[in-house]
Amino acid sequence: MTFADLGLSHDLLKAVEASGYTEPTPIQAQAIPPVLMMKDIVGIAQTGTGKTASFVLPMIDVLASGRRRALMPRSLILAPTRELAAQVAENFEKYGKNHDLKLALLIGGVQMGDQVKALNEGVDVLIATPGRLMDLFERGKILLNGCELLVIDEADRMLDMGFIPDIEFICSKLPEARQTLLFSATMPPPIEKLAAKFLNNPKRIEV
Ligand code: AMP
Repeated sequence: MTFADLGLSHDLLKAVEASGYTEPTPIQAQAIPPVLMMKDIVGIAQTGTGKTASFVLPMIDVLASGRRRALMPRSLILAPTRELAAQVAENFEKYGKNHDLKLALLIGGVQMGDQVKALNEGVDVLIATPGRLMDLFERGKILLNGCELLVIDEADRMLDMGFIPDIEFICSKLPEARQTLLFSATMPPPIEKLAAKFLNNPKRIEV
């Protein structure tokens, strides 16, 4: 199995090659094709398995066409911590350097003014921790009804941190016709429930 077998674009294959990766990890081999086909997935994978690239790479291709609009991010990635959100952003920068994608990072501890300015200019990928996103949403600084792709990363850590009610609220503000990807190292009952409620016939991938 090579990256070229997975259906990624030529530009993306070049960025992957520049990273020095020779073959996809098991989660990448199984997740990339269905994400490119706009299917929902539940990915059960630990950190260190290459799970970040398993959604970042196909998302770059999925988002390559389409227009940005002020206040309406086109995709949203929810991460439990600032550090994880920053890591996901780094992955987009690394693999997306041949693509014109605008990222915004909405995390606590960063001045809200700059984040609001970025949202006003339009973003393709919004990477956020739930608390800061809720805060901006409640202040009317962000609209979620243009967001057709949602990633919930490290869902089991979100549960441990008490973020499930925030995630349910955020999901309820997104369009129903969207693609949703959920990643978790384990699938305790509240995460199974969340997946059953907010994902549409997801493909389950366990590595
Ligand atoms: P993650 O599980 O997303 O935290 O990724 C773990 C590490 O694996 C990161 O440092 C990546 O740069 C690296 N990585 C991701 N995909 C591959 C791959 N296909 N081959 C080798 N290393 C990879």
